[in-house]
Amino acid sequence: MIRLAVVSGKGGTGKTVVTGAIARICTRSRVMVDCDVDAANLELLLKPRILERTDFRGMEVASIDPAVCTACGICIGACRFDAIRTHGAAYRVETGRCEGCRVCRMVCPAGAVSMQPRMCGQIFYSETAWGNLVHARLAPGAANSGLLVMEIKKLALSRNGDCDLMLIDGPPGIGCPLISTITGTDHALLVTEPSVSGFHDLERVVRVSRTLRTPVSVVINKHDLNPRISGDIRKFCRREDVAFRGEIPYDEAVMEAVRNGRPVTEYHVPASEAITTLWDDWSRELW
Ligand code: SF4
Ligand code: SF4
Repeated sequence: MIRLAVVSGKGGTGKTVVTGAIARICTRSRVMVDCDVDAANLELLLKPRILERTDFRGMEVASIDPAVCTACGICIGACRFDAIRTHGAAYRVETGRCEGCRVCRMVCPAGAVSMQPRMCGQIFYSETAWGNLVHARLAPGAANSGLLVMEIKKLALSRNGDCDLMLIDGPPGIGCPLISTITGTDHALLVTEPSVSGFHDLERVVRVSRTLRTPVSVVINKHDLNPRISGDIRKFCRREDVAFRGEIPYDEAVMEAVRNGRPVTEYHVPASEAITTLWDDWSRELW
């Protein structure tokens, strides 16, 4: 199986459009994974039928039993995350602040603290017209997005490990979810756009990918909107020895396809033709 992550650094560069387009035209067996667990939207293009949904439990959270608590106050001083507060005479844990470190449990002389599982979101396993899809929804305000990304990749591998391709729609940014996304993948395709912020974030993602020893290549979306910056990106790729995969023109049909909830490669339009050519050339190298 080839594990290919489509990432961008900056949000809104067309990463999900490219992922959905490849999912539609790839002729190999494939499983799709949407690692943007804070705002998964590949499902809008792939129209999955959900087969299973499971709860995702992240870090534990401390809980104080008021019937056992003697109100000694030791735990308040011990909690480095300021997660224990008094409400009148009662001591309570603010779950949104609790990091699950268990220190309060260790120091409590009365044994009033227990650790409880915390529901952090849901994981979905689905079928689509082009293969299975694994995606997730992190609960609002919940942490552990990197852990959730690892979980959904693991699920895709355990259920569809015999596929030729794991096609991953990555999260924006260069933080923990991105690192979890590209760790262990065979290649990261960086979708950028010709803007100052797009170029800047591209450089940052290249650095992160290199640190993780993940091979990268670049495609410029809407390249004709700013030929000067597109030229700078091409020069950057040559200078940094980053494979340049191709360019996609600005095409209003892309927004029309997104509005209709369809992969753009269902339409015979310039953007679709550019992605098809890119993928045809690349898949000859991959297999
Ligand atoms: S588990 Fe850690 S972070 Fe949570 S309340 Fe206890 S000491 Fe504070
Ligand atoms: S250390 Fe234990 S007994 Fe003391 S206030 Fe905290 S929970 Fe209550």
